[in-house]
Amino acid sequence: MTRPLALHPDRLFPADPGTRAIARALYEGVKDLPIVSPHGHTDPAWFAYDEPFPNPASLLIVPDHYVFRMLYSQGVPLESLGVPSVDGSPVEQDPRKIWNLFAQHYHLFRGTPSRMWLDWVFAEVFGLDVLLDESTADHYYEVIDAALKTPAFRPRALFERFGIEAIATTEGPLDPLAHHRAIRESGWNGRVVTAYRPDPVVDPETPGFAAKVAKFGEMAGEDVSTYAGYLAAHRFHRARFREAGATSTDHGHPSALTADLSPEDCEALYHRVLAGVGEAGASKQDAELFRAQILTEMAGMSVEDGMVMQLHPAVHRSHNQAVLERFGRDKGGDIPLPGEFVQALKPLLDRYGNDPRLTLILFTLDEDVYSRELAPLAGHYPSLRLGPPWWFHDSPEGMRRFRERATETGGFYNTVGFNDDTRAFLSIPARHDVARRMDCAWLAQLVAEHRLPEDEAHEVARALAYDLVKAAYKL
Ligand SMILES: [Zn+2]
Repeated sequence: MTRPLALHPDRLFPADPGTRAIARALYEGVKDLPIVSPHGHTDPAWFAYDEPFPNPASLLIVPDHYVFRMLYSQGVPLESLGVPSVDGSPVEQDPRKIWNLFAQHYHLFRGTPSRMWLDWVFAEVFGLDVLLDESTADHYYEVIDAALKTPAFRPRALFERFGIEAIATTEGPLDPLAHHRAIRESGWNGRVVTAYRPDPVVDPETPGFAAKVAKFGEMAGEDVSTYAGYLAAHRFHRARFREAGATSTDHGHPSALTADLSPEDCEALYHRVLAGVGEAGASKQDAELFRAQILTEMAGMSVEDGMVMQLHPAVHRSHNQAVLERFGRDKGGDIPLPGEFVQALKPLLDRYGNDPRLTLILFTLDEDVYSRELAPLAGHYPSLRLGPPWWFHDSPEGMRRFRERATETGGFYNTVGFNDDTRAFLSIPARHDVARRMDCAWLAQLVAEHRLPEDEAHEVARALAYDLVKAAYKL
């Protein structure tokens, strides 16, 4: 027996009728604002070449670690979901088999944001009106597959339909940025910009670090045998990324540690980490200190060139060793670590924290630090802003906890709107919509308790949905 798929117009709004009416009115004012997506992981090749997405499984399941990590946790092998293996050994290739397996397990997503996002994609993007389960799997596959073959479902058409005003992708420091060039040269006026994520040449524990630094220097025409040459190469690549539209840098570090060493200590440390981590070369502490020093250098360069800096610290990447070895990175095995910002950021803040030219946007997966560390820091230092609830906390409850814990000390205007941070392109409007609904629900509560007049709540709702993100990211 099939069950209906219907998105309730009041979803995520307060159950109390009076507060719900305020939330509805606030939402009415922001629901159709354009989407500004300042941080994410969509593939610029989609927008450069505008080719059809191949099939439902390769679009919605195979690349989405939110989806397959849940199935994996219930014993579904990644091979059977078509996730490519590192050594090229065979995995499931039949997209319809992959789709059916996903459909059989769709109940696992009950109560999760993935379920909300996917239901939105099914209902709003593809017009499906029955719930996904084993009995409707074939129907779903056929409807989605047929749609993907039509011009209206090409990447650029969807970009325009979704009302995206600007979207940022994220590229590594050795990326030639050819897809971004192709977008600009194509004459299409969709705004797709890159962001500079230099982690592979900043983290000495990256496999092949020294070779990557050598290539980094070669591309820049700089002699990276000295620390000064290495920094000059960063300046070159930052300028190259800015030409491809970048307004921001992004740093994914094991911790938020920063340092401000003397030039002599920097030079010596640089040579140790270039020799490799372990055995004859640098220690793990050296690697951590080098990453810490580079964050401060990046802040200094942001003061010079105006790029907004984002810090995404404290994730234990690829925690599952067997999955890492068989399938590689980004396979749903990343697990949050405790965060510490107050001591860690002090060297950087002592140097640049009061400089009005710096914007440093902080993210965390450790919710304990919202009220204890992050809101007090951002509520004081002019350079600091708080990024939205990130990753595991990009969820209705995560958003509620963020506003509850950060607003009273940091206010609304030290936050920067919403980031979808996703590679799941079709879910982008759903993710922004959840954020807008949750912010309206939160503001409605303040209005109902006479803590904020309704006309001001309308201004805040608009700021959270649109104005703050454009200002913070200079988009
Ligand atoms: Zn990201």
